[in-house]
Amino acid sequence: MKRNRPHSPRPRAARDHKTRLWEKALTLHREILTLDTHADTPLVFLKQPFDLAERQAAGHVDLPRLRAGMLRAQFFAAYTPPRFRMGEGALNFGMRMLDAIHQMIERHPADLELARHSSDFSRIAAQGKIAIAIGMENGEPIERNLANLRNFHRLGVRYLTLTHWFNNHLGDSSTDEAPLWHGLSDFGREVVRECNRLGIMIDVSHVHDEVVKECLELSTAPLVATHSNARALCDHPRNLSDELLRQIAEAGGVIQVNFCNDFLSQPHCDNSRAYEAEDRRLRHLLHDEAEIAERMQAWRAAWPPPPRPPLSVVGDHIAHIVRITGSVEHVGIGSDFDGVKSTPQGLDDVSAMPKLTCHLLERGFAADDLRKIWGENLLRVMAAAERTAGVRADG
Ligand SMILES: [Zn+2]
Repeated sequence: MKRNRPHSPRPRAARDHKTRLWEKALTLHREILTLDTHADTPLVFLKQPFDLAERQAAGHVDLPRLRAGMLRAQFFAAYTPPRFRMGEGALNFGMRMLDAIHQMIERHPADLELARHSSDFSRIAAQGKIAIAIGMENGEPIERNLANLRNFHRLGVRYLTLTHWFNNHLGDSSTDEAPLWHGLSDFGREVVRECNRLGIMIDVSHVHDEVVKECLELSTAPLVATHSNARALCDHPRNLSDELLRQIAEAGGVIQVNFCNDFLSQPHCDNSRAYEAEDRRLRHLLHDEAEIAERMQAWRAAWPPPPRPPLSVVGDHIAHIVRITGSVEHVGIGSDFDGVKSTPQGLDDVSAMPKLTCHLLERGFAADDLRKIWGENLLRVMAAAERTAGVRADG
C-alpha cells in the first residue's frame, strides 16, 4: 500500500519545486502589471448594488479578492443584453451601466481609479490602487448615432465589442442563427472608422468570422479579442480559428483568453450547445414558459454538465495561441469573471490569478513572457490605438 512505502526523497523534491514556483508566482505578481480585459461585475452591481469593499459570498470579483489575486488592473464591461428587450432603449441601458461603473469607482477612491490612457495603468498601480478601465460590450447603445459613441469615449470607454450573442445594427454575431449583413453593416463600418479616430480599441470577441476579417482590412489600429479562445482546441463558433489568430497577430493585435469552460473544453462546449439547441427546439414547439422550464429541467437532469476541467486548459489555449502566432506577444487574459457560470478547477474567482501564473511558470513560460501575457501585450495594442487616433487628430 502506498502509505507503507519507505520514505523516498522524490515527493519532497517535487513539493519543493512547487513551493519555489508558487513563491516565484507571488513575487511576479508583486512586480508586474497584471491586467484582465473582461469582467461583468458591473452587471451584478446594476442588478443589486453591493459594497465592493466587502467579500461577497457569490460572484467572482470584489476588492478583497482583487487584492488577494494581486490583479493591478481590471476592465469592467458596460454590457448591454442582446436583442434589447428590457422595456427601455439600449442607449438608456448603456448609460445606466456606465453610471454603475463610475459609481463603483467613486465609492472607493483610495482603492480604485479610472484608467483613460494606456499610460495611466502603471501610474495608478504605483500608487497601490487598482486601475479600472471600461469596455463596452455590444454596440447596441450607439443606436445609429456616432455622437453616442463619442460620448461613451468621453465617459471612459476604451474598447468596443461590436456585437454580443446576436446580430445587431453594426454587424453579425458568431452565435446568431444566420448572418444578417454578411459581415459589418454600413453603419458598423462607420463605427470602426470612428473608433480608430477616437482611439477606442475594436474588440472582435463574439463577432462573426466575416466581421473579424472586415475589421482586419478596415481598422487602422490593431484589434483585440478581449475574451476569446482557440477554436482548434474547443470548436465553438465564438472561438477564433487558427487563421484568424494568425491574422490578428500579424496586424499587431492580441487575443485575451477566456476562463469559461464552454469555450475552453470540448465536452462542456458540446453539453451547452446541446442545451441551447433543446431550448430552441422547445421554443418553436411550445409557448408556455413554465412548461419549457420544466422540460429543460428534465433535460438538464438527464444531461448534467461534465466535471470541471483542470486549470491547465487555460494554459493549453495560451500555449496554442503562442504556437500559432509564433510569439508570446499576442496573448493575454480576459477572464469573463462574473459573466460565466463554470470555470476550471482552482480558478474559482479573481483571487486565484497567481495559481494561473504558477501553472504557466510550471509549463516553462519565463518571467518576461508573463509580463507580456499579463498586461504589456494589451497595453501595446491600446497605445497603438491611441497613436492612430493621435495621427488622425493632428492630420
Ligand atoms: Zn462576452
